[in-house]
Amino acid sequence: MHATDAVAEARRMMEICNACRYCEGYCAVFPAMELRREFSNADLSYLANLCHDCRGCFYACQYAPPHAFDLNLPRTFAQVRTETYEAYAWPGVLARLFRHNGVVVSLIAAVALAAVLLLTTALQVPVVLYGVHTGPGAFYAVVPYGTMASVGLSTFGYALFALAMGFARFWRDAAAGSPRAKPSALWRALCDVAVLRNLSGGGYGCNDRDESFSGLRRWLHHAMFYGFLACFAATSVATIYHHVLRWIAPYPPLSAPVVLGTLGGLGLLLGTSGSFALKFVRDPAPGAPELLGADTAVLVLLALVAATGLLLLGLRASGAMGPLLVVHLGFVLAFFLVLPYSKFVHGVYRFGALLRYAAERASGGVRRPPAGEQ
Ligand code: SF4
Ligand code: SF4
Repeated sequence: MHATDAVAEARRMMEICNACRYCEGYCAVFPAMELRREFSNADLSYLANLCHDCRGCFYACQYAPPHAFDLNLPRTFAQVRTETYEAYAWPGVLARLFRHNGVVVSLIAAVALAAVLLLTTALQVPVVLYGVHTGPGAFYAVVPYGTMASVGLSTFGYALFALAMGFARFWRDAAAGSPRAKPSALWRALCDVAVLRNLSGGGYGCNDRDESFSGLRRWLHHAMFYGFLACFAATSVATIYHHVLRWIAPYPPLSAPVVLGTLGGLGLLLGTSGSFALKFVRDPAPGAPELLGADTAVLVLLALVAATGLLLLGLRASGAMGPLLVVHLGFVLAFFLVLPYSKFVHGVYRFGALLRYAAERASGGVRRPPAGEQ
């Protein structure tokens, strides 16, 4: 991780917080901070990704603006996190995509959608594209299964590989000097992810809108996270149906892929639209306005994936199925393409930070000061 203005500012703030320690019950950042006397660039990258932007420390802080110390941890950590995404992106030549990321995500989505639309209309006759198709293989009459599977697998496979490489780079740098992560630490980190513990703001919730506490943001994140997992499970089950059982889509309304896909789509739609709305009613003071475009672009893209998927499910027995399938696939393709180069990566680095935190806690810390030195 390089030295930047945001990293230097985060260091200044952590040194003040380390003397104060008033917020130590709010989240994992403060106990992790207390294990250190000095903060390397990599430490600050780790701490910034451990921050879940609950904003509790901003409203609790006696040194927040207008105090001369101008302490605004949520904003500074958000800026450092974004620099982390660029620093660890793979391949490095694409790291610049994290700059002006809202525009980049929108452009890639538009190009992916246009490419799928143009190719389908060029290769498919209107009577098939706009026709009514029912029974096994109905979707594949419009877009052949081989095309759908090969494009989906190659782009998603690349995205997963790029994310794994980013994680490895982060771990090598931001977790250098960390105690070895044992299975118990891995379990603890997975539990923290599953319940989004650090969005509880010390038990009272986040400061979603202002200084009052609320659990709304945490629940919206749960809806997105589990909605995404349910959609992934639906696709996995459908793949087993297709290749192992030789049951060809579309599947009945009460089949596992449809039930999982419907629940997942609704969760995603609720989580993304709620989070999007929350962005515009939040107190802007602890936020980083320059990151709003990147934050909202991914939410809109994910909401469009979910909405078109649900519409496709509802209208699959009508003439709208063909165009809806093409539009849905265009948004899914865009999602796969931007996955490693957008705000989506925050989940990967947050997990890495939580894993390091769990490993440090399990071993008693990295560099505890000698007794009596405090
Ligand atoms: S954010 Fe403010 S109140 Fe909280 S630990 Fe830091 S200096 Fe203290
Ligand atoms: S914003 Fe919340 S999660 Fe981030 S450092 Fe402050 S209290 Fe911790």
